[in-house]
Amino acid sequence: MQPDGSILFKNDQWNSITGGKAWGNNIFEMISSSSIPQFRSVLEQISSHPGNTAAINLELENPSGNSIIMPAEAFSYMENGQIKIMVMQVNKSEKDKLADRLFFSFENSNDVFYEFDILRKRYNYVSPACRELFGITPEQAMNTPPGSFEYMIHAEDYALVHNHFRTICKTPAHDRKNFFIRYRYFHSTQGLKWVIDRHTVFYDEQFQPCLIVGSIRDITASQLSQEKLQRDEKLFKGIIDNSPDLLLILDRQEKVRFVSSSVENIFGYKPDAIINMHPLQFMNKSAYDKMALALRELKQNSLPVTETEITLKNSKGNEVFTRARFVNYLNEPSAQSVLVVIQDITTQKKYDQQLKDSYANLQCIINNSDDPVWSMDTELKLIVFNQAFSDLIKMFFGFQPEKGQAIFDEIVARGYPDQTDCRNHFLSAMTGKKINFEKTYMHSSGEAIMYYTISPIFNAEGRITGASCIGKNITSIVKLNRTLTEQNEALIKANRELDRFVYSMSHDLRSPVASALGLVQIMELEAQDSGTIMHTSMLKKRLGRLDALIAGILDFIKQQKEPVKPEIIDLNWLIESLVESRGYKEEVPDMELVLNTRVDFPVITDLSKLTTVLENLISNAIKYRDNLKPRLKIIINAFSTSDETVIQVIDNGIGIADKHKEKIFDMFYRASSSVNGSGLGLYIVQENLRAMEGTIQVESKLNEGSVFTIRFKNHHP
Ligand code: ADP
Repeated sequence: MQPDGSILFKNDQWNSITGGKAWGNNIFEMISSSSIPQFRSVLEQISSHPGNTAAINLELENPSGNSIIMPAEAFSYMENGQIKIMVMQVNKSEKDKLADRLFFSFENSNDVFYEFDILRKRYNYVSPACRELFGITPEQAMNTPPGSFEYMIHAEDYALVHNHFRTICKTPAHDRKNFFIRYRYFHSTQGLKWVIDRHTVFYDEQFQPCLIVGSIRDITASQLSQEKLQRDEKLFKGIIDNSPDLLLILDRQEKVRFVSSSVENIFGYKPDAIINMHPLQFMNKSAYDKMALALRELKQNSLPVTETEITLKNSKGNEVFTRARFVNYLNEPSAQSVLVVIQDITTQKKYDQQLKDSYANLQCIINNSDDPVWSMDTELKLIVFNQAFSDLIKMFFGFQPEKGQAIFDEIVARGYPDQTDCRNHFLSAMTGKKINFEKTYMHSSGEAIMYYTISPIFNAEGRITGASCIGKNITSIVKLNRTLTEQNEALIKANRELDRFVYSMSHDLRSPVASALGLVQIMELEAQDSGTIMHTSMLKKRLGRLDALIAGILDFIKQQKEPVKPEIIDLNWLIESLVESRGYKEEVPDMELVLNTRVDFPVITDLSKLTTVLENLISNAIKYRDNLKPRLKIIINAFSTSDETVIQVIDNGIGIADKHKEKIFDMFYRASSSVNGSGLGLYIVQENLRAMEGTIQVESKLNEGSVFTIRFKNHHP
């Protein structure tokens, strides 16, 4: 019952004494009113603490008014965190009372207690927990053949359970009486469950099994957590075994209690071989000394963790740099050990060293540069700089820069103009752009012009952490450039004036020469004596040459002024019409002209310039013909590609001596005085070709002939 008297459970005997099952939900309804106060105080007393007992005389009264006195014993106990009270008749034997108590506890237990009659193949008793554990009422279990519920057993455990019970039901008595079996079954609403069934077999007089008495306990929770533990253990072992770090557990005597399999990589021992060893047995002395130092520090100062770097020697005798962490579990009763985690940092060390070396190299390069080099972080504070930068700041602003300094603020603070332009260039470089700019400074010894290139600095994650800048003092270059430009402009002006002068001079000279020629012609008609006739003819020749010279100069100046006007040219037509119009055939009737043109791509250039070029080359070939040879032969070869046109003018003339070849393209240079000429022709040819983006070459052998090769660009629109 509960301390307030409400009844939770009554056995059949109680019902028979008090006369009827249905009757009586509260004890106070069943005892005589005179005994109520006494019973209430007894209840209060025993329910104050679990385990209290009291002897009482219960004066029970049934609805029909019959009353009996029942000597009884009441005791309190805890169930589900609540005090409950059991009242029992005392005239029972101690054994019966014990049986009652046991039975009571069976009925209230979470475990299922049972008694199975082997001969009858039926349960004699199944406790109420059956309902919760298997979802079957005790009555169902007792009234049906045991096989009815076999379908609930897990398929993998079915044979085990079946064989077990079959065996113990058939085996006559021997030493063993107690058995247990673990199995799984499917609960109709709660899913898979694990149970352990512990039981004892009783035998009859013929030593044949007759009863199985046992209890079944739900072990699902512990079984699952055990399975999880096993899984976790496997997982941790996997992690530890696959870890590149070496894990050691040392006990108080520094003996190895556990070692991970990576020990083989470093020391070449199998993990099992090291168990129970002292580190000195597999480590060199100096490595152990460092380890011992860290361990001592850990123990003496009760530190949770210590760390040190240890250089080990591996089984091949190579040095392995490691970082060792010692984790203190000495004060943990279940562990009483130190966990040592040894990490191989050899590669890291190597990289660190390489990094240091390359940094030193870089520093050396930067410092040896005469150009200022420096970098700034995103707050425009100096990160690194070289001597040249330091000198520059000193020269322009009179102070020595320092690392971490906000250099622009410092310049302004010292009264110099605001460096907003530079500041902005740096800031825009920090958005990821490369910036080039020029800046002029005025200082004590004059003007300085600097050319700066700023580039963003990216870190390993690709984030911009600042900008670096290289400066170049371009003062002298800029000044030189200025002078050159000035000189160039002056030259162009002088040249233009000279051109104008030559042009007007030639122009002005032409008319007096023309009149003089006219006068000479009259004189020629009037001359009588042979001396005057000869002199007049000489005068006419000289004047003719002068006129030709002036005409040549005028022509040249005019052509030079004209820009290239490209057009598609029919080479064959051009050459043929040239030969025709200049009357060469009349001049040298037996000359042989061979034209080999293979123009696969259109010739596109300035027609008038090309005409001048070809006219000069052909007329030279005729002019410098070799009269000792039977006939003059001129071959003109031409071919074109999409980019250029090549034309060769080949003659069998007098040829040019080697010493002249270099100079024949100079203005007024003449290599032969056998015929009249001004020495201007090849000069004009070369100048025209230059304007046409072309070149000229000569090959020649004295008395054999000459080859002039020109090539010029095809000006596609
Ligand atoms: P010019 O013909 O008026 O003398 P050019 O400039 O045309 O002037 O030629 C320069 C010199 O090159 C000529 O004086 C001549 O000696 C030489 N020369 C030019 N073309 C030929 C050629 N086809 N054969 C031999 N000599 C030549």
